[in-house]
Amino acid sequence: RYMDTVLKTTELTKVFSGKKAVDHVSMTVNRGDIYGFIGKNGAGKTTLIRMAVGLAAPSGGSIELFGSKDLTQMRKKVGTVIEYPAVIPHMTARQNLVAQCKLQGVKDLSVIDRILSTVGLESTGKKKAKNFSLGMKQRLAIAIALIGEPDFLFLDEPTNGLDPTGIKEIRELIQKLNHEHGITVLISSHILGELSKLATRYGIIDKGVMIDEFTAEDLEARCKSSLMIQVDRIPEACSILENVVGTKNYTVNPDGTISLFDHLDEAGLINTILAKHDIIVNSISMSNADLENYFIQVTGGDR
Ligand code: ATP
Repeated sequence: RYMDTVLKTTELTKVFSGKKAVDHVSMTVNRGDIYGFIGKNGAGKTTLIRMAVGLAAPSGGSIELFGSKDLTQMRKKVGTVIEYPAVIPHMTARQNLVAQCKLQGVKDLSVIDRILSTVGLESTGKKKAKNFSLGMKQRLAIAIALIGEPDFLFLDEPTNGLDPTGIKEIRELIQKLNHEHGITVLISSHILGELSKLATRYGIIDKGVMIDEFTAEDLEARCKSSLMIQVDRIPEACSILENVVGTKNYTVNPDGTISLFDHLDEAGLINTILAKHDIIVNSISMSNADLENYFIQVTGGDR
């Protein structure tokens, strides 16, 4: 029986020599998600994935897979492509998959042809993996992870170093795995824009801390055109927006700015109304935040 939640971490923490690489992270990946796990280099993505798949021991907190704490059992249904992939350079694609079948005790080798064609490597013949393009190597690494027929796939920076064509191929492969094979996917990346064509949910991690989890719809809403308003007293400003300006069509962002989604051509008026009520308006400006701007806004930029 499948639970709706495939991964749930609670206050998950990893300390390396006194430094929290992952700091009380609670995150949820639901069945069917393509979960975009976003953070700058060094934010803690790989460390969290390593704990989830059993390559590193947590310093604190807990992990559930498929709604269960029996991780050894549940990890049989999990595939991982992480850091240096399991590709053996002097072997062909097929030989790599045969080797992986042996390793995992898979007797029915008919999975190999199916998987080769799924990842688009069915006609690589005698070509050895060391002569593959980076994109082909990455797709072979994903093929290796598919041998155990996982329900949930962790992909750590799968498009790192790829050219636009390679990125597109990986993106289409991930979509195929998700849509046609029903595989839930978690993809880490330091580039939010790259996942925006793909992810159904997002988690943003910064300096080990989960800053925000949200859906693709939330993100779309947050990236709408808005007036970005910076004030000294946020709750008071919100109450003026509601009671004087007469709108509830705004959000308060994690960085404390207010995004107002209507009255877009009345910045001056909004400014005057707030000022009349003794709110100090530090700035008010039109924002067409795209994804990347949004990411920089919530993580503070400096990358
Ligand atoms: P990247 O995209 O660069 O892989 P990341 O978000 O995956 O970044 P992690 O690799 O998880 O980040 O690293 C998080 C922090 O933990 C970093 O400061 C890193 O230096 C530190 N770290 C990771 N692994 C170890 C380790 N084995 N020993 C000590 N520190 C580590």
